[in-house]
Amino acid sequence: MNSLSLWLDKPHNPYPPLRQDSKADVIILGGGLTGVSAAYWLALAGIDCLVLEKHHIASGATGRNAGFILAGVAEHYSRVVTTLGREKARYLWNLSLENHSLIASLVEEEGIVCDYRKSGSYLLAISPSEFLEIQETVKLLREDHFSSVRLPEARIAEVLSLKGFSGGSFNSYDGELDPVAFVRGLASAAHRKGARFAEETPVLEVLQRDSSGVRVRTPEGIVEGEILILATNAYTPLVEPSFSDKVFPIRGQILSTTPVDARLLDGVVYADYGDRYFRQTLDGKLVIGGWRKWDEAREVGFEEETTDSIQSKLEEFLAEQFPLANVEITHRWAGIMGFSRNGLPMIGPLPGDSSCLVAIGYTGHGFGFGVRAGKILAELVVNGKSSAPLELFSPRRQSLSR
Ligand SMILES: Cc1cc2nc3c(=O)[nH]c(=O)nc-3n(C[C@H](O)[C@H](O)[C@H](O)COP(=O)(O)OP(=O)(O)OC[C@H]3O[C@@H](n4cnc5c(N)ncnc54)[C@H](O)[C@@H]3O)c2cc1C
Repeated sequence: MNSLSLWLDKPHNPYPPLRQDSKADVIILGGGLTGVSAAYWLALAGIDCLVLEKHHIASGATGRNAGFILAGVAEHYSRVVTTLGREKARYLWNLSLENHSLIASLVEEEGIVCDYRKSGSYLLAISPSEFLEIQETVKLLREDHFSSVRLPEARIAEVLSLKGFSGGSFNSYDGELDPVAFVRGLASAAHRKGARFAEETPVLEVLQRDSSGVRVRTPEGIVEGEILILATNAYTPLVEPSFSDKVFPIRGQILSTTPVDARLLDGVVYADYGDRYFRQTLDGKLVIGGWRKWDEAREVGFEEETTDSIQSKLEEFLAEQFPLANVEITHRWAGIMGFSRNGLPMIGPLPGDSSCLVAIGYTGHGFGFGVRAGKILAELVVNGKSSAPLELFSPRRQSLSR
């Protein structure tokens, strides 16, 4: 059984590790979606930047997710409206749509081959009470001029041939991709524009970060720069301990199968408040993930290891919903998400230190925000400000509040 994710199980020409001291105007820690996006926008603006990646481009959560591009944060829109208020909920939804548009235009303009499709998303309820929340979500979204269609139970069985769901909704503007192909392609585009990358180059220590500059230590050299970007998501507390009470490592698991000839699913499916998710890739493979709540206490920490308890739930679901002949499980994998306290990413400078910027804590929705978040960081470097309301994403924020 292959322990790599489906997306990472492809040849890759790595950028060489850093072997000596170096300098860069902006030093970016982390070569996932966020770090690569920041590098792309910085290079586009002509800023010298160097990405230092502990393992390989997209080898963190970015290479281990399900490849859904969903609008909004992980919580149902109705809950976000209740906790943050209508205006902020609407703003977050719009920001994630803007993020999705950026992905679509980068795919187009940079010629990134990543099976990107705007196939839409189904949000399904596993109980009548969740369906009530989904119906409230549909109502609020439509009032806010975002299209969303309510699907009663009978329609789920009809449109998706799925059993056991109490109802749901469909959002036509969501999408899916191969996350590794996208981020490797974006890294190549950034590299062509002048961004530099060093893989297998862990930052062992931040030696200095203040108004006179930043310095980090890697195994074979010190890197000096003006600004440090932490694009280290779940791993941030290991680099910057002040985040140990702000971003938490939470594990997610997935399996994928051999291709199925029939088209069983068009559009990605997100159920049980996002705890269960599945899709069928363009070439027919089923990708099924989640069920974290089944063994929640164990699904924490930094170990990218699958467990029998979660994998057996994923298999059970596969057999129950897609009782197909000749389908085999080819990949099982785990990845580490960075959860924030209130489910919103933290984007912007560290409190009291404009030499260090972060974009972390997407709480399982990095492909809904990460490209735009990288662009916000680039805007902060280039202009010293961003059009985004940074107070909403301030790392200072600790709890859910309006
Ligand atoms: C199982 C699973 C399913 C998911 N499904 C989805 C989905 O369908 N849609 C969605 O939107 N989101 C999903 N997510 C979340 C999404 O993958 C993340 O939000 C997103 O990839 C975060 O990207 P990132 O670049 O910020 O972090 P990461 O991809 O984790 O990148 C951080 C990088 O920092 C590097 N690093 C850490 N420390 C150091 C150091 N000291 N020196 C150098 N480098 C360092 C790491 O090696 C890593 O490559 C899922 C996540 C998981 C685990």
